Amino acid sequence: MSLIRKTAAELGSMIADGEVSAVEVAEAHLGRMGEVEPKVRAFLHVDHETTIEQARAVDTRLRAGEKLGPLAGVPIAHKDIFSTHDMPTTAASKILEGWRPPYDATVTKRLRQAGLVILGKTNLDEFAMGSSTENSAFHPTHNPWDLSRVPGGSSGGSSAAVAAYEAPLSTGTDTGGSIRQPAAVTGIVGMKPTYGGSSRYGVIAFASSLDTPGPFARNVLDAALLHEAFSGYDPMDSTSIDAPVPSVVEAARNADISGMRIGVVKEFAGEGFQPGVLTRYHEAVQLLESLGAKVVEVSCPSFTIALPAYYLIAPSEASSNLARFDAMRYGLRVGDDGTRSAEEVMALTRAAGFGPEVKRRIMLGTYALSSGYYDAYYGQAQKVRTVISREFEAAYQQVDVLVSPTTPTTAFPIGERIDDPMAMYLADLCTIPSNLSGNAAMSVPCGLADEDGLPVGLQIMAPVLADDRCYRVGAAVEQALESRWGGPLLKEAPSL
Ligand code: GLN
Repeated sequence: MSLIRKTAAELGSMIADGEVSAVEVAEAHLGRMGEVEPKVRAFLHVDHETTIEQARAVDTRLRAGEKLGPLAGVPIAHKDIFSTHDMPTTAASKILEGWRPPYDATVTKRLRQAGLVILGKTNLDEFAMGSSTENSAFHPTHNPWDLSRVPGGSSGGSSAAVAAYEAPLSTGTDTGGSIRQPAAVTGIVGMKPTYGGSSRYGVIAFASSLDTPGPFARNVLDAALLHEAFSGYDPMDSTSIDAPVPSVVEAARNADISGMRIGVVKEFAGEGFQPGVLTRYHEAVQLLESLGAKVVEVSCPSFTIALPAYYLIAPSEASSNLARFDAMRYGLRVGDDGTRSAEEVMALTRAAGFGPEVKRRIMLGTYALSSGYYDAYYGQAQKVRTVISREFEAAYQQVDVLVSPTTPTTAFPIGERIDDPMAMYLADLCTIPSNLSGNAAMSVPCGLADEDGLPVGLQIMAPVLADDRCYRVGAAVEQALESRWGGPLLKEAPSL
């Protein structure tokens, strides 16, 4: 089997055993990128020389007997929102074009130390605002399952790169669904860790009370290995959690779910959902039952108002966070010809540097926070957030995990929702509640929809710091479906 078809775990052990070098593995993936990248366009930045240099350095470290982690030498693609000291970091915005951070994000730094080799920086919706990657200031990314469709968003470059076998692993950030939704629509595994379980240090901020870095992989164990390699307490992030957490790798290796109590969220499986998504979802629930889990229906009525609450809270935080792009400190500066005031230069730069969705969010957020409106909008949304957290807590008194479809539909055509923000926002209907509460949540492939043959994701939600439960249930679903299908769901990226 060619190197690009191997799992990250297999590649890691082959490299550790000296069966193949990190350089050879990197070259195989760069070769694949050369073939398919013109069609997929998952990357914003690649630099073969830097990649090979990194791989060579890992080979040297390993030969010198240095003990690196299980993923040493394995290639990875990073969403272009993680700061990298040796590569540009743009958040897919013109306002940061050409900026090179002077430091690494904690996630990228820890992964370098563990010996992972960076293939490049992946495309996203500008500042992670969107569900399709069409809001990138540079170009859209195409879904490897059907190139005329979106790969989800905002981390659509990272999901497409893994689904297209350009990279075995990638990173993303999930503020309202930006890891789970792209994972679902490209047929791969995506995990939003517990908020505070992975460090935000060096990640360009969108909505700081929600932003959560997490892993993408083609199988549950690989996602767990990556999760474990970068997560954990970081003193550089003030909301990082300093507490022991159960091993997600062990959980991914122990797919026994007999006796587990699984709650089916009643509100997320009816009207407005694509029939083929619901069929695969109901089958997955039956499968869990057949594996010995106890399935109960759970009602969380406030989950249906999570979406409007999120679209007040996230833009409010964004309007504050994005104030730093003032033409003085980073990236673009427009109209600074000596005749204009700083304020004029700032206005010209922000007008030219931000795209339409980012401007929409800044205006929404500024409005929601302005005096006279604050209580009615931002304040009210915060109350909804509290109610949602309480509903989760009540549900987790009865069950160990909750499940729902990850998305209401499969991947939609490029261009279909770009002029209809409400339709775009609905892609995150099922994912947003776990962001508002800070809970852990995963998307794992559960089949292909009959009507379009496109991937469907099962969402598995767990209490704060119980990320391991997502991996245990995810691994159970994956194993059961693989034995039913006689192999991994994503055998080939079909349109490549
Ligand atoms: N699609 C959602 C939004 O546009 C979520 C984005 C995210 O998780 N970064 O805000």
